[in-house]
This record gives sequence, C-alpha cells and structure tokens, in this order.
Amino acid sequence: MSVPVSEPAMRQGAPRWPGVIEAYRSHLPVSAQTPVVTLLEGNTPLIPAPALSRKVHPRARVFLKYEGMNPTGSFKDRGMTLAISKAAEAKSVAVLCASTGNTSASASAYAARAGMRCIVLIPSGNIALGKLSQALIHQAAVVPVNGNFDECLNLVKEIAQKFPITVVNSINPYRIEGQKTCAFEICDVLGDAPDLHVTPVGNAGNITAQWKGYREYQAAKRVSRVPVMLGFQAKGAAPIVLGKIVAKPKTIATAIRIGNPASWKGALAAVKESDGAISAVTDKEILQAYMLLAKEEGVFVEPASAASVAGLLKLSAERYFDRQPWKSRDAITIVCILTGHGLKDPERALASVRVPKPVAPTMPALIKRLKLC
Ligand SMILES: *Cc1c(COP(=O)(O)O)cnc(C)c1O
Repeated sequence: MSVPVSEPAMRQGAPRWPGVIEAYRSHLPVSAQTPVVTLLEGNTPLIPAPALSRKVHPRARVFLKYEGMNPTGSFKDRGMTLAISKAAEAKSVAVLCASTGNTSASASAYAARAGMRCIVLIPSGNIALGKLSQALIHQAAVVPVNGNFDECLNLVKEIAQKFPITVVNSINPYRIEGQKTCAFEICDVLGDAPDLHVTPVGNAGNITAQWKGYREYQAAKRVSRVPVMLGFQAKGAAPIVLGKIVAKPKTIATAIRIGNPASWKGALAAVKESDGAISAVTDKEILQAYMLLAKEEGVFVEPASAASVAGLLKLSAERYFDRQPWKSRDAITIVCILTGHGLKDPERALASVRVPKPVAPTMPALIKRLKLC
C-alpha cells in the first residue's frame, strides 16, 4: 500500500526545514491570511573554502553561500516564495516577469505550484539552456524578445499598467523581502555577521536585499555588527561602476548582463552605509574563478556566480587585506554568494574544458588513454 507524501505521513518531531517564510515569519510581511507557497527553499549550505582562503590571505576564512542549492537552482527562490504567496493572497491569477533566466525559472515553478499562469519575457538567444528548459517544462508562456533584458523589463512594466497581472521582478518589493533571508541564514550559521560580504550584482536586487537583512538582524540584536558589502559587476555590464546606463551590456555571465539596474539606488546605499564598494571584473577573471571553484573547491556554479569570487581574488591581488581595518585583524571572515548552480549553463561548462573523444572498447586503448603505463 502506498503512503501519500503529506505532512501527517512525516515522523512527528523530525527535524524539517519549513522554507524561508516559516523560518523567518516574524521578519517578513506575511499574516495568517497569507497562503504560503513554498518549495522549501533556503537553508543553503555555507561551505568553508580552504583552497580559496589560502589564495586570498593567510588570515582569510572564506565561506561559499551556495545558493545554487535552492529548489530551482538559484537564490531567486527566496524572493519568489514570498512574491507568489502575496500574489495568491491578493487573488492574482497570473504573474509576469522579464528575465535573464533564473527569475523565469523560479517564477514558473512557484506559479505552477500555486496554480497560476506565468508569463516570461526573455532576451532572445541570450538565456542559458538549463533556465530556458525550466520555464518551458513548468508550462510558463515564454516569449523570446528581440531585445535585451532592460527592454524586456520596460515592456513588463507597461503591460502591468494595462492588465491585472502581478509583476514578480525585483521591482516587486516582496522579492527583496524574501531575498534578505540569505543574510539571516549566514548570521545564524556564523553566530554573527561576517566581516565581508561579497556578491555578484546585476539588477542589484540581491545586494539591496542582503544589506536590508543584515541591518534588520542588527536592529533586532541578533548580530553585533554588519559586514562591509562588496558587489561585483561584469566589466562589459557595469553601469553602477561607470555611473551611467550601459545601452548594450556585454558579458558571458548572462545573469548579470544588465545595463540599467532596477535597484541601482539600493546597491549604492548598501555600499555607502557599509563602507563597501561596487567594482567590475572581466569575463576572463570570472571564468578563471568559475574554473577554480570547480577544480579546487568542488563547487559548480554558473558564470555570473563566480563574479563574487573573481572580485575577491582581485582585491587580494591589490593587497586590500594588507590595509586597515583588515591589517590588524587576526582573522577575516568572508562570505561569497554563489548565486546559481553550474548545471544552469552546461554549454558554458563544455566550452571551458576539452571534451574527450571516445576510445575503442579494448583494454589497450583504455590503458593508453589513461596513460596507465
Ligand atoms: C539574478 C542573478 C544575479 C543578479 O542578481 P541581482 O539581484 O539582479 O543583482 C546573479 N547571479 C545569478 C545566478 C542570478 O540569477
């Protein structure tokens, strides 16, 4: 006899992660009337990175917050559980987003879960294979647009003014509210805020949300301090670094190929208030960090995620840690956010390695290939 997988079937008192809304309910804008739409997102691993730590500085303790372990493979699920739950509370029947890929993957999964229609506008030809397959398999109405992300987002804003559809891009404030739980988890595991928080920056919703999370934990006296916030954009898509909109953003890191970030002001506030900075890394530096994470830490991320690690390595090469306040610290705790899973973009992975040719099905051929004698 088969047992239905429902809550009563689970062992009483078994440790069970409830998803970010239940885990952090008192910090989030939800009530008893909010139907919680969750895939049990969050609770992602904070992985110590010894090889990277050694490269960065003798006193560096680097941790990787592996957001690729969320249900749809990116941190977007943290904001989406809240955005879709609030849309359900408002009796919305359809949601809409523009996406470089991960927002659409997440929106389509949570909308499927909630029984809502989901519409996604994507820049044609510029979305990683894994993300496109996710949106399609969850039955979203996917519309490839012959334009870039910023043009897709402008269309989304216009459609939402004319039709009763909920926008679930990070201009939806519930996205930011949900995404701040990433900072809560880091503090809960470390016992306090880290010294440095390093993250990729695209539309800048994430850095805005993480900073909000740290500030709220500080206000609630859950931590004694807040970290220095460091954000990294790709060189060819670095509007915040340049101080002006980039009309045609270019980078292999498609998730951060954004020329006019929606949360520009939030990102600037985060780095100003925390004594941090937003800087740029080249595609070459991003790919080097991408390979290093895979080869030496055993962690597979998508290229955009590696921007945080690329940025950290760049700072270390510039002797950032030999300056104050770091110079006088015994240990420097650093958290790099790894925003999305490597399986999102298998084409990039295969383009970064030598793909082996087959051998004959014989022992001599195999021994020769493996250079066993
Ligand atoms: C969305 C996304 C980013 C950028 O986050 P923003 O909040 O837009 O700055 C970075 N990496 C991945 C994998 C993403 O999906």
